[in-house]
Amino acid sequence: MKKTVGILILLMMSVCVLRAQTDTLTIDAQAYDPALDTLEVVPDMLDQPADIASRISLFAKGNGAPIDTLDVGDARFQIVLMDDNTWKIIKNISVLEGDDLFTKNWNTRLVNPFRDPLDSIPYRVTIPLIDSVSRFVCPHQGKVFSRFGLRHGRRHQGCDVPYPTGTPVYCAFDGRVRLAERHKGYGNLVIIRHENGLETFYGHLSRIDVTPGQWIHAGDQIGLGGSTGRSSGPHLHFETRYNGFAFDPEWIVDFENGKLRRNAFVLKRSYLSAYSKYVPESIDEEEEIYMTDEQIRAEEERIAKERAAMKYHTIKSGDTLSGLAVKYGTTVSKICNLNPGLKPTTILSLGRKIRVK
Ligand SMILES: [Zn+2]
Repeated sequence: MKKTVGILILLMMSVCVLRAQTDTLTIDAQAYDPALDTLEVVPDMLDQPADIASRISLFAKGNGAPIDTLDVGDARFQIVLMDDNTWKIIKNISVLEGDDLFTKNWNTRLVNPFRDPLDSIPYRVTIPLIDSVSRFVCPHQGKVFSRFGLRHGRRHQGCDVPYPTGTPVYCAFDGRVRLAERHKGYGNLVIIRHENGLETFYGHLSRIDVTPGQWIHAGDQIGLGGSTGRSSGPHLHFETRYNGFAFDPEWIVDFENGKLRRNAFVLKRSYLSAYSKYVPESIDEEEEIYMTDEQIRAEEERIAKERAAMKYHTIKSGDTLSGLAVKYGTTVSKICNLNPGLKPTTILSLGRKIRVK
């Protein structure tokens, strides 16, 4: 018994010595709480290495949740760091909101609030379409129903693409909804202004899913396809405009392949007209891009002269193609060549406008 007590005393003394040594290593000995001693956790962790791995991977894989933001040189953008070791660039909406682009000529009721004349627009403007922060989603992949340009003497300012009623319509580029309401011939119309200065129009919708002022991304649903307004069947009327002037969307969108034709687009002022249709890229066009302003001006003058020389005639009772040929000093076949679909045998309907020169 005495022996046992002696051993116990010895043990207690040695523990005290050990504690005393430990205490010297602890900054706040009084606060020491054995229950919180990491030693108690360590054996557990060593027993379960899988657990350690999963704790680390919890951070490595992450949920893609943002953990920090970094400023970049341009106030419109910020880099966001994610908990899965990835990063992405985001747009600083509060800065974009104050940009001239989204304040000038901003009107939620007028289809075209722009008032600048055509000749105030530069001969050429380079428009970035997609880059590391901007995507493109094709509004429709497939054939174009009805192209941009003159149609029965009327200007058709966009491309008509087949679109069954009820099919979701997606926004082509990031931007802000400027107008979203019913508008005469357009029916239910959504107009979106984009950061690259373009506006896109989506007409004849059966339902509108956005409101003016809303910021949206390429690919966001803006409504459903339909046949509202002046429309003979379900289709989407898609327009691309710059400063209120429409240009052929096919300059930038290859509808058949559902892709953009280029990442940046050189918009020429001459495209901003119902007479200017998209022409497939050729060596000539490539050369034209590198033309001097002087050469472009001369080319535009030539086109303007050609346009001024164009003559139209509205069909009245008693008009015949041969009669018109005599009247305008031309031939029936020349008139037919100027009007796609017109044949010498075509019965001319009253009020139809045909080009005679
Ligand atoms: Zn149309």
